[in-house]
Amino acid sequence: MDFKILKKSKLSRARLGFLETSHGVVETPCLVPVATQAVVKTLDSEEAHETKSQILIANTFHLHLKPGEKIVEKAGGLHKFMNWRKPLMTDSGGYQVFSLGFGRDYEVGKVLKFFPGKKGEAIKEGQQPQHIKIGLDGVIFRSPINGDELFLGPKESIKIQEKLGADIIFAFDECTAPLADLKYVKKSLERTHNWAKICLKARSKRTKQAMFGIVQGSRFKALREESSKFIDSLGFEGYGIGGDLGTNKQTTKKILDWTMPNLNEKKPRHLLGIGYLEDMEMIIKSGVDLFDCTVPTHYARRGIAFTSQGKLDLKDKKFFKKNEALDKGCVCKICLNYKKDYISHLLRAGEITALKLITFHNLWYFNTFVEELRTKIKNGKM
Ligand SMILES: [Zn+2]
Repeated sequence: MDFKILKKSKLSRARLGFLETSHGVVETPCLVPVATQAVVKTLDSEEAHETKSQILIANTFHLHLKPGEKIVEKAGGLHKFMNWRKPLMTDSGGYQVFSLGFGRDYEVGKVLKFFPGKKGEAIKEGQQPQHIKIGLDGVIFRSPINGDELFLGPKESIKIQEKLGADIIFAFDECTAPLADLKYVKKSLERTHNWAKICLKARSKRTKQAMFGIVQGSRFKALREESSKFIDSLGFEGYGIGGDLGTNKQTTKKILDWTMPNLNEKKPRHLLGIGYLEDMEMIIKSGVDLFDCTVPTHYARRGIAFTSQGKLDLKDKKFFKKNEALDKGCVCKICLNYKKDYISHLLRAGEITALKLITFHNLWYFNTFVEELRTKIKNGKM
């Protein structure tokens, strides 16, 4: 992998870049659509490509469960397995330490929107989630498929990711919950840093994959600074910025401001799991090059389209009779060929094609949005 910075903004930390892999080039800043199970849900790989998506991220934990990395490896790796010829990333499974752990216990996401009522107390040092066990060497999960015990640690994650064969892989980490207190995060950070070293040692010499180390530290300034300096010192090819990112956009920005100055600016930075339209400009101005986000695809499957008029819930009966495109300004193939009344009808009729049409439009819309931000950086406006 090779990363070139074409232009640095004079107004912010934003930069325009060119990420070159053996499967082609990614223009950054770039949204990375999520293909958890080696598919952008509802689309085939050619359609995902047509939405102007440049790179996808698949999930190590889920692909390890099924079909298993051996099957993928035998098929010639993820690219061939899913017929995606462009760049690919796999995350490490570290996010599942959170989502199947404290995230599940407390029903919270990475960005804490509210403090859950009865379980609102902080997560303390030494506390374990109900359904997984976090140890020094890794994490014991229960398979959501058959309940079997399943161990995933830094070495295991890297071995799986090598077999999957994405262009960019991530070090195994613990994504902490927004409710974790300072002592918990401190202890967790020691573990994550230790795992980062193990991941680098575990990789085989033959691989052409780039490995990104993950900065954690939650909402604590000293820990984010410590983590970014430490991860930078290990010599990864790029960085992931993970963990909870505070309760609102202001804290997310602060967290990025504590992190970015400590990272080698010649290497790409990936913000893990965030990318609402309203956050994009801020995260790009903070110096983020890549970010993955389930928003465009997840909302689409709930019948919600993103447009220049805001979010449209196509289940709403006011759209049943609207014979117009999802977005008048959009030139995606859905907007050129289908109308709101038809898509609403499909949704009401429970036809799965509705979800595909909205997913296609949403991804096109998000990718175009980021494309416009790249143009703004190019023209010195951001
Ligand atoms: Zn469209």
